Formats: sequence, structure tokens, C-alpha cells
Amino acid sequence: MDFRKIAAKSILNRCGIPGIDFVVNPYIGCRFACKYCYASFMGRFVGKTVADWGEYVYAKTNAPELLRAELPKKLKNKGVGKEIFFSSVTDPYQGMEAKYRLTRRCLEELIAFGFGGLVSILTKSDLVLRDIDLFKKLPRVSVGLTVTSTDDGVSRFFETYAPPSSRRITALAALHKEGIKTYAFIGPLLPHFVAQEDALDRLMAAIAQSGTRDIFVEHLNLSSYIRNRLMEEMKREERAVVEKFYSSQSKAYREELDVLVRRLLTKHDLRLILNQTIYHKEFQSRPDTTGRIDK
Ligand code: SF4
Repeated sequence: MDFRKIAAKSILNRCGIPGIDFVVNPYIGCRFACKYCYASFMGRFVGKTVADWGEYVYAKTNAPELLRAELPKKLKNKGVGKEIFFSSVTDPYQGMEAKYRLTRRCLEELIAFGFGGLVSILTKSDLVLRDIDLFKKLPRVSVGLTVTSTDDGVSRFFETYAPPSSRRITALAALHKEGIKTYAFIGPLLPHFVAQEDALDRLMAAIAQSGTRDIFVEHLNLSSYIRNRLMEEMKREERAVVEKFYSSQSKAYREELDVLVRRLLTKHDLRLILNQTIYHKEFQSRPDTTGRIDK
């Protein structure tokens, strides 16, 4: 495992994700090592390969100071009307955050600056609960947990070192109880859900029970670099399961899943934030949508 402390050159960066103005990524790499992670391409910037994803994390230890310096330069009117997203290519609450507190200290900088826009968070970790005190001090915040299954064995397989799904759903409930606006991110929608409607039913029921009403749903993105890594990791799995992953890239398959998603949304009284299931390749070309991709 390659852990390092590094000094970043910038931290408040413009973002290509529709609807999001800036991203803050306090770390390079992500120890959670999800097998489907689209951010695995990041290795190319630090001399690592896609296969190394999960095996290196670099903490940008100057992130809070950088943010303090960049906020007045990059935001007018205290950022009213803008959205800052934590994080697009790392998890802001992975294990290293317990020690380095970079996400927390960046949030403190936003509060000290008087940021007037929306802070949105997306994580797979219940460490996010540590910062409830700060969320309450921000004028607008939305905290999301990625949940892909209610089966902790499934989350352990695909999201190797992330806290299990059950803890994420418990975290959603705890945030909701504290009056924090929450959302759930079902992404990727695991391909086996077509054959196991009850698994998606259980997942949506658990989200609804947490008190969260808003959800993003995203289809699996199998760009070639993701596919190669995922299939290498799944080479010992049953052939039928692997084939499901390949077939998930067809339009017919996505439409079948979409029908299922809509039926279960209605059943559990959940709201699909973008009013569509995100499909990475089509979604990025839609200028009129808002949201985030990944995690
Ligand atoms: S999907 Fe998110 S949590 Fe998982 S490895 Fe990638 S950045 Fe980390």
C-alpha cells in the first residue's frame, strides 16, 4: 500500500459534471478500491496503472490552506448559486480522513469564508457522521451515501474496503434524524437486479425506511478500462453472472431495468432526482441535466 502526503497545486477545481460548478478532491486515489470505479484512470497522473487502483492514496495535506486562498479568487458573491461537490474522483471520507481530517478542514474553510452556495457530499463511509456539526453550519448542504445492495457480502465483493452497505443505510438514517438533507446514490445499478427484482426492492425499501426520499440511479459504466479491471477481478465468478455484466451495456437491458426502477420508486414513494436513470455515456452529453456521476 502506497500512502503519501503531497502538496497540491490547486484544490477548488472546475468540474465537467453537469450542474456542479466546482469539485474538491482532498485525496488522490481511493482505498475503498471499488471494482467498478470509473476514477481508476487517475493513476495515469501519478505513475500508477488502472490495476493499481485502491493500492495508493495521496493526501493533499495543504488542501485547507489552498482552499482558503482560492475561495475569494474563484467565487464571486460568496458563491451564492454555486455548487461545490466533495468528491468526484476519490471518497472524501475514506479511512485516511479519520487521521488527516482534510475534508473536515475544507468544510471549516467554507464556513469561515461564508460560502453561500450548496455543498454536496457523496461517500460510502459512515465517517461522514463525524461532520454533522459542520453540516448544520452550512447554509445549504446535501449529503449522499452510495448504496448498491442491502447484501453486505455483495458490497464487500464489489466495494472491497468500503464500509458495508448496512452501515451506509444506518448513516443515512442518522443524518436524516439530525435534519440534514440526504440522498442515496444507487450507482452502479448492479446488473443482476434484472434477475433479482426482490434485491432492488429490498434496497429501495431500506432507503425509504432511512427517511431519505431523493435518489440518483446510475447504470453500470463499462468503458474499456473499467471493463478490463472489473472482468479481471471477476474472473473466478460464475460465467452466467459475468455475462449479465456484459449484457448490461445494451439499450434493451437498460430499458428493462428502467421499468423495474420506476415501478419500485412508486412503490416506495421515492423521488428520482434527475427524473431519469443516469447512463454515463448519454448523460454527459445532456446539458440540461444536473447531478453527479460516480459513487
Ligand atoms: S467508486 Fe468511489 S468509493 Fe469506490 S473506489 Fe471509486 S472513488 Fe472510491
